[in-house]
Amino acid sequence: MVAHDVLTYLSAKDVNFPDINVKITDYSYEEVDTLRYNPEYKIEYREGKKPTVSSDNPLFDENIFYNDFIKYSKPVDGKVSSLEVLAMYSVEPDWGMDTGLYLSPIQKLMGGSNGYRHMRYVLFYLIRAGVLKKQIRYFDSLSKIAFGKNDIYWGIRFSARTIHYLEDFLTPVHAKPCTESFIVKNILFPKKIFNIAFNYHINFEKLTGYHIWHSNPEFIGAIENSKIREYRSLAGILSNTHLKTRLMFYPIFKELDRLWRKKMEAKPVIIETEEIQNNPEYSRVLKYSANWLEYSSSIVKGYIKNFLIPRLTESINGSKSI
Ligand SMILES: [Zn+2]
Repeated sequence: MVAHDVLTYLSAKDVNFPDINVKITDYSYEEVDTLRYNPEYKIEYREGKKPTVSSDNPLFDENIFYNDFIKYSKPVDGKVSSLEVLAMYSVEPDWGMDTGLYLSPIQKLMGGSNGYRHMRYVLFYLIRAGVLKKQIRYFDSLSKIAFGKNDIYWGIRFSARTIHYLEDFLTPVHAKPCTESFIVKNILFPKKIFNIAFNYHINFEKLTGYHIWHSNPEFIGAIENSKIREYRSLAGILSNTHLKTRLMFYPIFKELDRLWRKKMEAKPVIIETEEIQNNPEYSRVLKYSANWLEYSSSIVKGYIKNFLIPRLTESINGSKSI
């Protein structure tokens, strides 16, 4: 998804995530952090800056529709707000760490190694692709390690990455590229299937990201008022939430098809920002998006409340670093 930081921020606030000043620490996890990353990727410290993905290619650049819903503060005496660390770094996995890798032959159909790690496609029920669940478990365990060392900054930062993948896991356009019936009807036109899947995904993300960052009251209300879902284990979240995410995809796809089919079949396109501002044509798809954000945030709140806050509280009690 796009605008992860706002979804994370509002969800964390609703479950009273402790907002304390945290000392920024250096990354010191080389020995335990054994996941392969893009060799070109360098760990960034973005405190006080923007959380967006920047690209020369307008298809991928988020700055064109960004607005600073969260005013990130610069560090003072090397310390920053724990809530801002959580929000900011819940975008981090989109900054390039997962691109440029060869992980599986299937990644070609998912837009490369980044798509392979950030999506979990299920088609015709039995075809499943992508390693999102693995990413969620991986960063959840790194967060435990960091909190275990009372390294609060990295404990939160690894949890933020966990939340990123969890939010992707709960995003309908990350759960299916298109509907099964669309594939069956267009089986002889793979290029058309590819263009439609790519364009709907990227433009749906732009549409929702724009409205979240620009405080669409329906979206903000959906996130703020969603009910907290309680979980006892991460496995419980992973096995019980994806089916509903997939079911939410069908009405969204149908509506996008009505709005965009004609202009998006032939090649990659990006809709103009003007088109998605105050356009009554989009009211139905925005309603579906609000339902999805309500669902997704209720689970993110459960993760933060049941797993992250207890670790953080324990670490605060044992720490000298704040
Ligand atoms: Zn992602």
